[in-house]
Amino acid sequence: MDGNPEVLIIGCGPGGSTAATFLAKAGRRVLVLEKETFPRFHVGESLLPYNRPLFEEMGVWPALAAAGFQRKFGAQFHLTNASKWTRFTFRNGPFTRHTEAIQVERARFDHLLMQHARQVGAEVREGWQVTRFDTGADGVRVEARDPGGATRQLRASLLIDASGRANLTGTQRKLRRVHPNHRKVAVYGHFTGVHLAVDESRGDTFIARGEDHWFWMIPVSSEKTSVGLVLDTRKVGRDREAAEVFRQHVAASRLMRERLAEARVAGEIKTTSDFSYFNDRLAEPRVLRVGDAAGFMDPIFSAGVFLAMWSGKLAALASLETLAQGGAGDRIFARYERRVQRAMRVYWRMVEHYYTTPFMELFLEPRHGLQVPAAVVAVLAGELEPPWHVRWRLEVFYLLLRIQKRRPLVPRLSFAEMEDTP
Ligand SMILES: Cc1cc2nc3c(=O)[nH]c(=O)nc-3n(C[C@H](O)[C@H](O)[C@H](O)COP(=O)(O)OP(=O)(O)OC[C@H]3O[C@@H](n4cnc5c(N)ncnc54)[C@H](O)[C@@H]3O)c2cc1C
Repeated sequence: MDGNPEVLIIGCGPGGSTAATFLAKAGRRVLVLEKETFPRFHVGESLLPYNRPLFEEMGVWPALAAAGFQRKFGAQFHLTNASKWTRFTFRNGPFTRHTEAIQVERARFDHLLMQHARQVGAEVREGWQVTRFDTGADGVRVEARDPGGATRQLRASLLIDASGRANLTGTQRKLRRVHPNHRKVAVYGHFTGVHLAVDESRGDTFIARGEDHWFWMIPVSSEKTSVGLVLDTRKVGRDREAAEVFRQHVAASRLMRERLAEARVAGEIKTTSDFSYFNDRLAEPRVLRVGDAAGFMDPIFSAGVFLAMWSGKLAALASLETLAQGGAGDRIFARYERRVQRAMRVYWRMVEHYYTTPFMELFLEPRHGLQVPAAVVAVLAGELEPPWHVRWRLEVFYLLLRIQKRRPLVPRLSFAEMEDTP
């Protein structure tokens, strides 16, 4: 690259590669520093239908389609005791504008996005770890360790932090606020031999809820299924106990026992702390935070990659406007912050209610009278900025939850596991 980049991006996950693609396609000089060498493992494999128009706009859809990822048409919510379940498909929702998604191995998916960003003109350096940043009147200064371990100083006009849950700039500025009730840990691995359906529902994201924990199953290829358990941190003592905790929870669940009866773990069982947090500020002069570096929400609704890419695109557009005008982007970046915070609140609210029993009671007994479930499905498909006819139905849904808490509109649930009959 001749001269300094106009925009420097920290991290080449989905947020960083999306921002880089939009900027490079607009002809701007963009440099991405990524600390890992791709392909690298990453958790978070289930995507949303609303990813699709972003893929098309970026021009990466042909490469993703050619990669043959598992198609996803819906999601299933079960109780771990197998007493109740429901399935929704995105195409049944009258308010859902995009109706099909993909399930991906992130190592391949993230690598394809990175390669695409390079193809359209972004410079991506792997093995470069950003260690700190500073802003001044004329630009940003970033300190990074290069692949040989040497410390380097780089300059740019604007900085996009897409460092994921490392949250480099938010941590340096002490902006990170951990959600008091969502200190979870995820224990997971890739398995072969998981019992899945043979029809199109094979590609569904499969969620199984117990009283204080839940499982996901995501088919990431024709052989491999990602299976994970999410529970409170205090339930997993030390890291090395995690695999045992996973096995105990599977053994205690009628549903998971059946599904994993012949499953074998491919590789190791991993553990990731899964604390939900947000940053007080998503923008400051010359700096924007996208994706998990803006905030991370419990993964129950598989929205993380989509939020990262959606905010990555908005950050690129805000940067383009700022570069065109000159200056540090104050007003433009404040607008970005408001818009992303508003969208994230839509999901946070849904996630907070997911952990209540009335939510599962209503969710597993959908009543279609006012098309309230269709509004919920639209949000779960990625309708981040819901129009009025979706918003009022969501309010009705939250009202029904409050009523259900006091007086049952639909039957109460029992999470108790049933004994197997001999
Ligand atoms: C248990 C669990 C399950 C999940 N399941 C799903 C799911 O099913 N669907 C879904 O959509 N989301 C899921 N998520 C969330 C999803 O993983 C994230 O929201 C998504 O990866 C965010 O993308 P990102 O680009 O913001 O960050 P990331 O994908 O984390 O990318 C950040 C990149 O920055 C790099 N980096 C970090 N620090 C530095 C540095 N200092 N210098 C240079 N590079 C750096 C990293 O190496 C990484 O490549 C899940 C998350 C968890 C914890």
